[in-house]
Amino acid sequence: MKRKVPFFEYPRIFTDHEEDLISILRDIGNRGAFIMQQDLASFETKLAQFTGAKYALGVANATDALQILLMASDLEKDDEIIICSHTMIATASAIHHAGCTPVPVEVGPDRLIDSEDIERAITPRTKAIMPTQLNGRTSNMEVILRIAEEHQLSVFEDSAQALGSTFKGQHAGTFGQGGAISFYPAKVLGCLGDGGAILTNHQDIYDKSYQIRDHGRTPDGTIKLWGLNSRLDNLQAAFLSFQLDKYSTVIERRRQAASIYDARLHHLKQLQLPPKPSTNSDHFDVYQNYEIIAESRDNLIDHLQEAGIGTLIQWGGIAIHQFRNLGFKQSLPKTDNFFSNCLMLPLNATASDDDYHYVCDCIVSFYSS
Ligand SMILES: *Cc1c(COP(=O)(O)O)cnc(C)c1O
Repeated sequence: MKRKVPFFEYPRIFTDHEEDLISILRDIGNRGAFIMQQDLASFETKLAQFTGAKYALGVANATDALQILLMASDLEKDDEIIICSHTMIATASAIHHAGCTPVPVEVGPDRLIDSEDIERAITPRTKAIMPTQLNGRTSNMEVILRIAEEHQLSVFEDSAQALGSTFKGQHAGTFGQGGAISFYPAKVLGCLGDGGAILTNHQDIYDKSYQIRDHGRTPDGTIKLWGLNSRLDNLQAAFLSFQLDKYSTVIERRRQAASIYDARLHHLKQLQLPPKPSTNSDHFDVYQNYEIIAESRDNLIDHLQEAGIGTLIQWGGIAIHQFRNLGFKQSLPKTDNFFSNCLMLPLNATASDDDYHYVCDCIVSFYSS
C-alpha cells in the first residue's frame, strides 16, 4: 500500500506542541521580553549543563556562531583553517567573513573529515582545524586534537548538526576552542526560525563572543571591540528551553529510526550505511541525517519519489571544493566520488515505525528488481 513519507515536515515543529508554544508566546508577549531577557539567560544555562560546556551563548544562527568564535580568537588575516569538503557552505563562509581562508580536505569513510588528509593540507599558514560533526556524529577527536597539538593549531567545531552527540562521553562542540550549534527548524533541536549557540570552555573566548554578538558591548554598556548584531531572540530561547526538556526522547526516537534502517538494509551490498546506533562504542550519534552511499542513486531517488518518499542530497550535491566560482582549486577525488553516490533517507522524530519500514520495503524492492 502506498503512503507518503516526506523528508521533513516543518509544520510538525509547531503543531505537535501548539498549545504549549502559544502559551509561551503569550507569556513573553505580555512581558514584552523580546531581546536579551531572562529566558535567554536560563536557556544558555540549561544548554551549558546539558552539554557540559563551561559556557553557552545564544546567537542568531550557527553561521554567526562560527564567525564570532573566530573573531574572538587570535587569528590573523589570511590564516588558513582546514575544513572537510563535505560540509555546508556556511562553514567556509564563516571563515571567509572572519578574514581567514577555508581549506577543504577529503571526506573519510565515516562521512566526517579525513584526519590523514588534514595532515597533508597543513602549511606554515595553517592556524586551525574546523571539523564538521556531520549527521549527528562526532569525529574521533583524540586524533584531531593530537594533530592540532603537534602543529600548534586551534580547533573549532562546526557542531551545527550534532547537539547531544558525544565522543568518549564528551559532547560535540566542547573539545577545542569552541563549537557552534544550529537551531534551524530542521536541525535535531529546532526553533521556529533561525537560532544558534556558541559552546566554549574558555573564558576569554566567551567574554569576547558575549560582546561581539551585541555590538561589542560589555554588560556595563562600554564598547571595547567591533561587534555584530547577532542575538538569539528571547522568544526563540524560550521555545528552545521547552524543547530541550524533551530532547532525550527525541534523540532516542531518532536512534530507533536508524536502528530500523540498519536492521532492514545492512544486507544490501548496493548500499553503504552510516554506523549503526550502539551503546558500547566511543561514539554516541544523534542521527541529524541518515546519509547513505547508494548504487544507481539517481534511479533510486526516482523510484522512492514515485512511492511517495522524500529524499535529499546534502548541500544540493555540491562539495565545498567544487565551488570554483568562490576560488577553490583543490582536487579531492574521494569527495567527488562520494558526492556522486550520497543520499539522505527521511529520518526525523515524527515519522512512524511503519513509515520507516515502508521506506525499507521500497529500497529492497528497487534493488531486487
Ligand atoms: C545548518 C548548518 C550550518 C548553519 O547553521 P545556521 O544556523 O543555519 O546558520 C552550518 N554548518 C552545518 C554543518 C550545518 O548543517
